[in-house]
Amino acid sequence: MEQKNTPIETARQTLMQLMQRKLPPTPDNFRSVYDEIMGVKSIDKSAELAKTLEKVLFEAGRNTPKYIAVAQAISPLIEKSDWRKLEDQLRKLFPSESANAEVGEANWSVLIRSLLKQLEVSHKGVTLSRKKEGLSKVLTNFASDPDVLAQKIQALISSWGVGSAAEAVGTSSPPTSIAEATQATTTTANALASVQWREMLLRTFELVLIPHLQAVSDHQQKAISLLGVMRQANGEEALTKCANDLRPILLSLEMERDHQARIHESLLQLLRLLMESMGSLVLEDQWLYAQTTVISDIISKPLNINTLYDAESSLKELTYKQSQLKPALTEAKDTLKKMVTTFVDRLVEMTESTSDYHDKIEGYQLKIASTEDMGELNILLNSILEDTRAIGLSVQRTRDEFTLSQKHAKDAEKRIQELTAELDYIGEVAHQDYLTGALNRRGMDEAIEREFNRADRHNTVLCVAMLDIDHFKKLNDTLGHATGDQALTHLVKVLKDVLRPTDVLARYGGEEFIIILPATPQDEAIKAVARVQRELTKNFFMHKNERVLITFSAGVAERATGESAEHLIPRADAALYLAKHSGRNQVIGAELLPEPDGTAVE
Ligand code: GH3
Ligand code: MG
Ligand code: MG
Repeated sequence: MEQKNTPIETARQTLMQLMQRKLPPTPDNFRSVYDEIMGVKSIDKSAELAKTLEKVLFEAGRNTPKYIAVAQAISPLIEKSDWRKLEDQLRKLFPSESANAEVGEANWSVLIRSLLKQLEVSHKGVTLSRKKEGLSKVLTNFASDPDVLAQKIQALISSWGVGSAAEAVGTSSPPTSIAEATQATTTTANALASVQWREMLLRTFELVLIPHLQAVSDHQQKAISLLGVMRQANGEEALTKCANDLRPILLSLEMERDHQARIHESLLQLLRLLMESMGSLVLEDQWLYAQTTVISDIISKPLNINTLYDAESSLKELTYKQSQLKPALTEAKDTLKKMVTTFVDRLVEMTESTSDYHDKIEGYQLKIASTEDMGELNILLNSILEDTRAIGLSVQRTRDEFTLSQKHAKDAEKRIQELTAELDYIGEVAHQDYLTGALNRRGMDEAIEREFNRADRHNTVLCVAMLDIDHFKKLNDTLGHATGDQALTHLVKVLKDVLRPTDVLARYGGEEFIIILPATPQDEAIKAVARVQRELTKNFFMHKNERVLITFSAGVAERATGESAEHLIPRADAALYLAKHSGRNQVIGAELLPEPDGTAVE
């Protein structure tokens, strides 16, 4: 009976064989000869292990490409017995901290939500039944592998976007390439990205949007409570509600931004005007003139904070210089006044004394004339007296003239005082805009009060239309501000021609106008404003014999019973805003308010 070798005996025989065959005693040679002696098929276990790992990793790599990278790296490491690097490679397979287990679930919930949404949304050339058919095929073909299924559903949804559902719905074999595996990971990445997007949006909402609504406190409050709701929102229904609630807040934000931009522009315009008038006032004073020119220059360019600081410091210097000049100016004026007064007083005194002197001289003349033998002297004295009398007469005349001009000056002063008072009064009570002849804000306020009261008394509706010229800045820039002014006047003329005499036109500011249309419902008011727009296409504004088309956008709001102007005008403004954003040169009506249940709209 053949005796089985002990391991030690087999090892001894193996070494002897290695020597006889002149093979170096490497572990591989030893193992192969040892197995031969033992009569078993020699297997390299490391190589087998490496192959098995590689196979499994390649399979896993279909969904997660990093497995493929590791699979490719491990074989040479096992061959080289580089265990440390092998360990590093294997560690790479641990899930990273961010890609935790929740991602898989989030992935499916995101995917299903997206699927539901895309089923509802219409896609060009893809009917709902075609979508359902495609989905059913995918579900049948890939139900056994959740990862592949997710990938295929994602691909199907994307294919609807380009209108070729068939391609994604095919019955092709499971993915084998790295590209396909990469696509599969996209859904996981999408899930992660959607979490990040949500966070970023919430933060933007909280840190940017809400603070910007500071001036519109009721919308700011709404935005704050919406933020709370958005944080909790899960599921399509909740998100749709959030989106709906968000819409008016965004509109209000846009309007607020627009409002701020208008304030900004108007302030600049004011500053420009101020600088212009100041520039012409201080023309003689080179220093002041230079300063105003510097500021005008700064504000004529696109603004940045540094140029604004420059403008501010220049203005401060200007104010300082003025404050120094003013007392000196007043002093100089007072001194001059005193001097003139003294001069006139002295002159009057002088002419009076000269006149006395003249009387005395006349007395002497009589006496001298009565002396008989002093012919020569008499002639001489006579001529002297004549001269003296002439002086007296001229001084007398001068005195009269002075007294007269003093009286004139006093009259003129009185007249100036009267005129100034008149001007102040006109400034206070004027109702018309000096440029266009439309009512100004003060006139508009009175008209509003009058028309609103009338509407209340007669229980009739009225409309308010708000107009803003389109791209007026461009007209100013290309044709000049003065031409812009003429364009405004032209528009007012056309408006007055087309509107009814009972309609009230007021310049609300800059190139914005308000029309009050008494006893007019909204659809009629819209038609009236549209008539003005049509008229402007026939009755052109002419500049240097060229036709210039002026268009405007308008918002029209019908007053609800008892609605105040403070409530009605912003509604017209909001409609104007929509008209601007719908492409300009349009008239848009505001939503009609429901009739209040006995309480007035505030
Ligand atoms: P949009 O269509 O958006 O209204 O464009 P726009 O260029 O008209 O923009 P915006 O209403 O903001 O600008 C109004 C411009 O009108 C800016 C201002 O310089 C100019 N403007 C305001 N008042 C007067 C004025 O009395 N005369 C002239 N010539 N221009 C004025
Ligand atoms: Mg404007
Ligand atoms: Mg405008």
